Amino acid sequence: MIQDIAPWRLDNAFLPIEPDVRDLVLDLTAEGILLAENEPRLPCVEEWRAWSPSDNTSLIYAFRVIRDENASCDEDEGSLADERRFFLALRDSEASLSVPEGWRRTPPSALRPLPSPLPLAAATALHLSRWYDARRFCGRCGSALRRSERERAMLCPACGNVEYPVIAPCVIVAVTDKDRLLLTRYARAGAPRFVLVAGFVEIGETAEQAAAREVMEETGLKIKRLRYVGSQPWGLSGTLAIGFTAELDGSDRVCLDTSELSEAVWVKRDALPPCPDLSSLTMDMILRFSRGEL
Ligand SMILES: [Zn+2]
Repeated sequence: MIQDIAPWRLDNAFLPIEPDVRDLVLDLTAEGILLAENEPRLPCVEEWRAWSPSDNTSLIYAFRVIRDENASCDEDEGSLADERRFFLALRDSEASLSVPEGWRRTPPSALRPLPSPLPLAAATALHLSRWYDARRFCGRCGSALRRSERERAMLCPACGNVEYPVIAPCVIVAVTDKDRLLLTRYARAGAPRFVLVAGFVEIGETAEQAAAREVMEETGLKIKRLRYVGSQPWGLSGTLAIGFTAELDGSDRVCLDTSELSEAVWVKRDALPPCPDLSSLTMDMILRFSRGEL
């Protein structure tokens, strides 16, 4: 999955530090993240500064990845340092922003199948940059916010309001009926592949209640024996996904919510479609069910 980046691990603690020329830059716009044209590689600060003449852009510390000392050394990665620090490029405006020669912009979601830790770094950077972009002004009094020097937060100098990054919890439910799994397909355009029932946790409910409610709302099915599988940070949509399995309780007749789904079908364990990539908890759960592990 996207968060499984061994032998690396993500250290998300905020550090009040300035970038070094060798640190990496996460430069995101609506067109995507800046990568080298011929390889999935982020620019280092030195490369990025040589191109970015704009004085309305600042580099903000984001996070770092560290290679665990006890992890076995992969020969292909043997030349990498034991720590990589990432800085987010934040700009006041994207107007007239060009892509430098030798570089390209790619949607972070397109990086999902790549080897770790780039997909996780890009997805987390997208989550952070959207948050920074939406926190320019105080939601309480309207004053311009400023960045905290001590923690990952935005402060209002006028009313004292403090804004922290927002993470939206959502549930993913693998509904099973003996050797069958319920697969769904979103109704929205461009949703080509099967997924599992999923939805956001609403105000005032537990993740377990959200799971039962989403299954009922989207498919009209009742569930029982809800069991926690695992969780996953999914910066591409700013969420923390919480995965469950559940058994069908009663009738298997689907009553589809066509505003959300175009399809919901029972598929036997040995007839499940192949998973295009295993970066998401949804695909991981489908694969594990097909192997008899869920
Ligand atoms: Zn305020």
